Amino acid sequence: MPTQQQRTAYDEAMVYMRTAAQRLAMPPEYQQLIANTYRELRVQIAIRRDDGSLFETFGYRVQHNGARGPYKGGIRYHPAVNIDEIRALASLMTWKNALVDIPFGGAKGGITVDTHQLSKRELQSLTRAFMRKIDMALGPHRDIPAPDMYTNAEVMGWMMDEYGRRHGHTPAVVTGKPLDLGGSLGRTEATGRGVSFVTQWASADYGVKLRGGTVVIQGFGNVGSYAAEFLQQGGALIIAVSDERGGVYNAEGLDIPKLRQHHQAHGTVVGFAGGTPVEGEKLLLIPCDILMPAALGDVITEANVKKLDTHMVIEAANHPVTPAAAAILWQRDIRVIPDILANAGGVIVSYFEWTQNLQQFYWKEHDVNNRLGEKLETAYRAIHEIAAREECSLREAAYMIALQRVYDAVRLRGI
Ligand code: GLU
Repeated sequence: MPTQQQRTAYDEAMVYMRTAAQRLAMPPEYQQLIANTYRELRVQIAIRRDDGSLFETFGYRVQHNGARGPYKGGIRYHPAVNIDEIRALASLMTWKNALVDIPFGGAKGGITVDTHQLSKRELQSLTRAFMRKIDMALGPHRDIPAPDMYTNAEVMGWMMDEYGRRHGHTPAVVTGKPLDLGGSLGRTEATGRGVSFVTQWASADYGVKLRGGTVVIQGFGNVGSYAAEFLQQGGALIIAVSDERGGVYNAEGLDIPKLRQHHQAHGTVVGFAGGTPVEGEKLLLIPCDILMPAALGDVITEANVKKLDTHMVIEAANHPVTPAAAAILWQRDIRVIPDILANAGGVIVSYFEWTQNLQQFYWKEHDVNNRLGEKLETAYRAIHEIAAREECSLREAAYMIALQRVYDAVRLRGI
């Protein structure tokens, strides 16, 4: 076993799977088979910039496990994207999709790029070049990408179009598309809506104050901003929010619709008149009832976990808490709602979008939202029950359910 320092993001992601495998007494040979990824693509991407210069970078698509169905997971555009991180995130998608019981395996992709440095035209040509190099591994019954950090419906529209040029019009090859191109009502807000649902159930079950309680959110992108809005509508006080440039604080609660307007106009929450500035790093240490990391991974670590002053952590981001920090939170009796449940709303509605595309029949928004709630609640109740019975964390319970399902599918397929 590598030491803490040598461990890669992928090793860290596997810690929970291994614990669950032991609890389930899974044969070691299957543990290794399930831990390993099925296929990893790394492709070179080169485009001409607007000024005529050459821009070169790399893109990735990792398919982790496809026993339960086509590979499924987002594509992120971020400077920190590398094969190890994408591999870790692909495995999280396998567990997430199995946990909420949607018929998909797990995948993730990305391009190492800072989107702030590119024009719209450059972004589109980068996206098309990437799609041309990975399209042979994709398809509605093979692998279905979706948005993730710094990608959105517009990028998915370009991907669908580029795929269609070679394979014919195929809306079900990507989800999170614009409505006019076969997207689903409710998809944009789905992750944030799901986060707010699980926050409500878990706060009620574990005696954490939500109505009139205080919430601190790191990240004001697609996930954090909608989670803030829904939680505020439910009576919570969102006292601090940050993004990559800094944060804002207001002890009385920030006005989220106004903050959203400010964010749309300036591209950041920094400078918002309805609060005082707070440094991004310090945001996590603000005393609150509920702490919600909704941006990057590995932000709650051994270095800061003992200083957190909160009653509950909701993992709206993927792997925001390191395994070592999670163990300390458990000792401190601070409940953690794991990422594979907390942020599963996005991929659940991606599943609904894919179904609608395949059937060419579109649902009303309230049907989408109700079914999202049902899927998430079933998963949450199952985890809650196992955690109580086994006296383990909600994450350990979630991995037990997910891994059992993946194992069953792998075994039934035979070798
Ligand atoms: N990127 C999202 C996630 O991490 C959504 C993936 C999807 O819809 O396929 O869950």
